[in-house]
Amino acid sequence: MTEHNTVTHRPGRSRRHLLQGCCGALAVGLFTGLVGTRPAQAAGNLRNPCLGALPAAGQAFIDEAFDGIDATRLVDTHAHLLGNGDAGSGCTIHPSMHQWWRPTEVLRRRAIMDAACVPVDAPSVDRAYIDRLRALAEGFPAGARWWLFAFDQACSDTGQPVPDWTTFHVPDAYAQQVATALPSRFAWVASIHPYRPDALARLDAALAGGAVAVKWLPSAMNIDPRDARCRPFCERLARAGVPLIVHCGEEKAAPGAGRDELVNPLLVRHLLAHGTRVVVAHCASLGQADDTDQPSAPARPAFDLFARLMGEREWEGRLLADISAVFQRNRKPAVWQAVLQRQEWHHRLLHGSDYPLPGLMPLFSLPALQNAGVLAEADIAPLQRLRAHNPLLFDFVLKRRLRMGQARLPAALFEGRALTPAKTTTTA
Ligand SMILES: [Zn+2]
Repeated sequence: MTEHNTVTHRPGRSRRHLLQGCCGALAVGLFTGLVGTRPAQAAGNLRNPCLGALPAAGQAFIDEAFDGIDATRLVDTHAHLLGNGDAGSGCTIHPSMHQWWRPTEVLRRRAIMDAACVPVDAPSVDRAYIDRLRALAEGFPAGARWWLFAFDQACSDTGQPVPDWTTFHVPDAYAQQVATALPSRFAWVASIHPYRPDALARLDAALAGGAVAVKWLPSAMNIDPRDARCRPFCERLARAGVPLIVHCGEEKAAPGAGRDELVNPLLVRHLLAHGTRVVVAHCASLGQADDTDQPSAPARPAFDLFARLMGEREWEGRLLADISAVFQRNRKPAVWQAVLQRQEWHHRLLHGSDYPLPGLMPLFSLPALQNAGVLAEADIAPLQRLRAHNPLLFDFVLKRRLRMGQARLPAALFEGRALTPAKTTTTA
């Protein structure tokens, strides 16, 4: 394999960083959950019970969450596909996820599969993943939809795939196939590395194939928003009116290429300047980033830099964000409170679950949300019961129950209204 020869820098964050799960801080959540937990507790409390259909008793609690929402418009704009290719998906998982001498990686893989209710002995991982996702979707009213993410390989600076940096890979063709098979529930999000020599041709194909957005994870994939190759890519997206979803904020979960400096929210300005709409995943709610506007200043919470960007008027019609992973236990209470309270942001925010992460038991702490003053104690037990059956529904209902004083996340956020182009939108 010649790809490695094309890598021009960063020989490598160490192996220990290489292999992490899909999205927003899986590792952090997983291990803050596991630390201090006895094995017996771990077995009892940390596994996803993966129960089936909901008991009728909890239905009123669920129905209340749909009050005021047009369920036919409900859209979850951040859900992951995963697979190992055993049923022809073309998906891959990095080999070290299976190597017994890398117990952390193996544990991480098991945790993700547990979150997705894929049994260790599943006849097909590809199929089991989709079957569970479809079953969870059936717990929602007709019309509710999910955006399913492809996930491109990490590429070198010359645009060649680098398998060793690629934690997992979900081809565009597979995401398209899964969505096309159930269009009443699913749409698909392409993932195309802009350094690929055929990036624009791939983008054209994705747009022609109905992709509703494109997803990048810059630190893992090695995408620098300042790179000149981003410009034609973004301009084409802008012309098509299709948004770019960019992970911002620390990514302990999928460092791949290990370029942490590339998930600085301030870099998103370079993409916005090309006229494209950008959805900042997770509201950049995790970790620190350099304040490049004031180079001598210390690193700041990435979320603060995101807030700065949201305050810049020139991006008003273009800069959006999703709330996926924001209410996980590894985020700060101040972040939870701000996202609820900053009502001037709400029309620019989108609902996202970061599925399968709502099924990863240690990743959410309802008592911590209660202590932060954003969740009522009485809601904890019914939410926990719901989660055992349907983590997607849990994630949605939880976000509908959250309150900070009078402030709560509005119905329009869950209906994807932020995607409707604003009046004062781009020149592109
Ligand atoms: Zn994600």
